[in-house]
Amino acid sequence: EYRIVHPLGEGAMGKVYVAEQESLGRRVALKILPDDFAHDAQAVERFGREAKAAAAMQHPNIVQVYGFGQDDGYYYYTMEYVPGSSLRDKVINVEAAPDERAVAKYILQVALALEYAHGQGVIHRDIKADNIIIRAKDDQALVADFGLSRSEQSRTITQVGALMGTPNYMAPEQTLGRKIDHRIDVYALGATLYECLTGELPFFHLELRQLLRMIKHQEPRPLRELRPDVSADLDAICRMAMAKRPEDRYPSADAMAQDLIRYMRGDVAMARRVLADL
Ligand code: ADP
Ligand code: MG
Repeated sequence: EYRIVHPLGEGAMGKVYVAEQESLGRRVALKILPDDFAHDAQAVERFGREAKAAAAMQHPNIVQVYGFGQDDGYYYYTMEYVPGSSLRDKVINVEAAPDERAVAKYILQVALALEYAHGQGVIHRDIKADNIIIRAKDDQALVADFGLSRSEQSRTITQVGALMGTPNYMAPEQTLGRKIDHRIDVYALGATLYECLTGELPFFHLELRQLLRMIKHQEPRPLRELRPDVSADLDAICRMAMAKRPEDRYPSADAMAQDLIRYMRGDVAMARRVLADL
């Protein structure tokens, strides 16, 4: 049903392509799951269930999931193709220091997407700059891979007996294997904000155990030490989102969104533009 047009990108867990869905004459993004996924019936079943929950979500700031299927022994899922660039390529992998209000707008849009998803009982679990796509035509932020990363992740954990990819955005309670809830997404969004503003991860260490220790016990380098021009308000929002204890964090993505809107109201023209976009 799909004809691969060209590769879009590759993450830890498979490759994403632009594909033509011939029956409907539309372009979609198609992600092929790792080879050995097919041999794990439990993972396939869980993924199917999560894809269903993801496909039920409809929000202007969430990449729409279309389908989940299998062909020639490969499992794949399809989603809305969003021409644009990842938040990482747009803001972090560039020479110039970003405009903090532009960053705040993207983060606000993601917070609104999170609030919606959390209301549907779906936690993203892998919020990071690579999973946020900035649509070229209207500069809107859309969140990809909603709720689907757990299957992919737990799969890798059983596979290699270690944490997958980068746990750099992981909330402290997640590294401890404690019970987690929607507030891990709030934390990860705070870490994403930090990285967008400073160009640096809040915590980084090549050795996993050291990194987890830092996430648990250390404070990130003060944001305004790295970027003195960033406003105290946005710095405060970032700290609140990244609080170590979930109970000290924003209780919901909406609470974070409200603070971001309040921060933007400091600039009336900006607030008007952003709110008109929403
Ligand atoms: P990652 O682990 O980095 O999120 P993915 O395999 O999910 O890796 O995606 C790889 C890249 O493909 C992303 O960083 C993004 O730039 C691009 N991408 C993913 N989904 C889409 C989509 N629906 N539309 C456009 N680009 C996408
Ligand atoms: Mg992704």
